[in-house]
Amino acid sequence: MVRYRVRKRGKYINTASALVLLLLSIIMIVLVIRSVGSFTDPLASVSKSNSAVPVKFRIVIDAGHGGKDPGATGASGANEKDSNLSLAHRVNELLRQDSMFETKMTRTDDQFIELEERAELANEWKADAIISLHGNTYEDQEVSGTETIYFKKNSLALAQTLQKGVSKALDTRDRGVKQDQYIILSTAQVPAVIVESGYITNPKEEEMLLSDKGQETAANAIHEALKKYFNGKQPSHQTVSSPDLQDQQKIEKTIYYNGSDKDEKQVALTFDDGPDRIVTPKILKILKEHDVKATFFLLGNKAEANPDIVKLIAEDGHIIGNHSWSHPDFKNLSAVEMRQEIEDTQTLLEEIVGYRPTLFRPPYGSLGKEKLEQIHEMNLAVVNWSVDTTDWSGTPSEDILELVRQQLFPGGIILQHTSNGKNQLANTIEALEKMIPELKDKGYSYVTIPDLLQIPAFQSE
Ligand SMILES: [Zn+2]
Repeated sequence: MVRYRVRKRGKYINTASALVLLLLSIIMIVLVIRSVGSFTDPLASVSKSNSAVPVKFRIVIDAGHGGKDPGATGASGANEKDSNLSLAHRVNELLRQDSMFETKMTRTDDQFIELEERAELANEWKADAIISLHGNTYEDQEVSGTETIYFKKNSLALAQTLQKGVSKALDTRDRGVKQDQYIILSTAQVPAVIVESGYITNPKEEEMLLSDKGQETAANAIHEALKKYFNGKQPSHQTVSSPDLQDQQKIEKTIYYNGSDKDEKQVALTFDDGPDRIVTPKILKILKEHDVKATFFLLGNKAEANPDIVKLIAEDGHIIGNHSWSHPDFKNLSAVEMRQEIEDTQTLLEEIVGYRPTLFRPPYGSLGKEKLEQIHEMNLAVVNWSVDTTDWSGTPSEDILELVRQQLFPGGIILQHTSNGKNQLANTIEALEKMIPELKDKGYSYVTIPDLLQIPAFQSE
């Protein structure tokens, strides 16, 4: 498998090394200009680096059935919902380790989720595909084999690639792809397929499907098939390198306080003033456990001290925004000082994660009209918040939760902190653990700021 991967990617190696060389020379030039002392206009010497934007294919993984809906009963008496879930976790792990993909799961444990909701998750996230994992069933125990179901035309090629890959890897009878109007397939606006990797009513096939080896083989086959299918394609939510899409997604010359769509129950969690080494890792852990993506407004001086934590934030699929270099009140800065605060942070973040953020949040939310215009000239979106948890001041976690209950409405942006707070922000962490499931129960879905505001996450140049 390793060899296969290397060979497949071989043709990109020349381009990749050329890009690395280009990037290195740009960094060198910037450094030289700075050391000579002619760094009077920070914007004039900004590198053009639209090539390093890490846009990933978004895959929603759906473990079929769950909770009160057990699915089919296997020959051994096992519930389909459980094997679907364990396979889903395996596929999720493989895709997450692959820089080509980012994932969301419709369920991560044994719970019932409406079929429409599963598809809506993919629609809202502008996923590139939703893969629903199932085991097949038939009254005749002899019947066996893999089949993949699609409904809309945009899903046929994906179904074929998965069908071929999975049946071949599992060495099952290839029953081919079938067109059928299942709810999840007809509700999804993105390519959607149901993979029935085998018949759990067939004792032999069930044993294989439930075994560690069978699950691993199936997960690997799905991963490989997705790589094959998406190879050479563009992620559908890619906004930064396509001029057409970029025009549709304009940054408004305003201060964003919340998303404008009140029909969708979305909420964006934002964390300011990091990264640090104590609180930020704890918050990342909680977000990961709940499969929530958030937005981190980072300080340049903290990022410089903790570049590894910045990388962790990006690797977990969260969005990074600029919160200035040293957290001054921008109302007290000259225009040159302000640009330096922003520009130094942009350059550093680009060095660490490979892209220049589009999002800027002024320290204390304090700016003034003139500086707002200057920041817009720098092609940055200014993002404040609609719910201030005042967590930094030591507000008890129950009060934080109460503030959120009272102030949050659909499209809301919640402000919390990852450092610069009392008592290592223990209350922030305690509140977050409760807040995430509570808002989920109320029907909220968690989105990043670019998804909420429909703006790009990275500057194209
Ligand atoms: Zn701050």
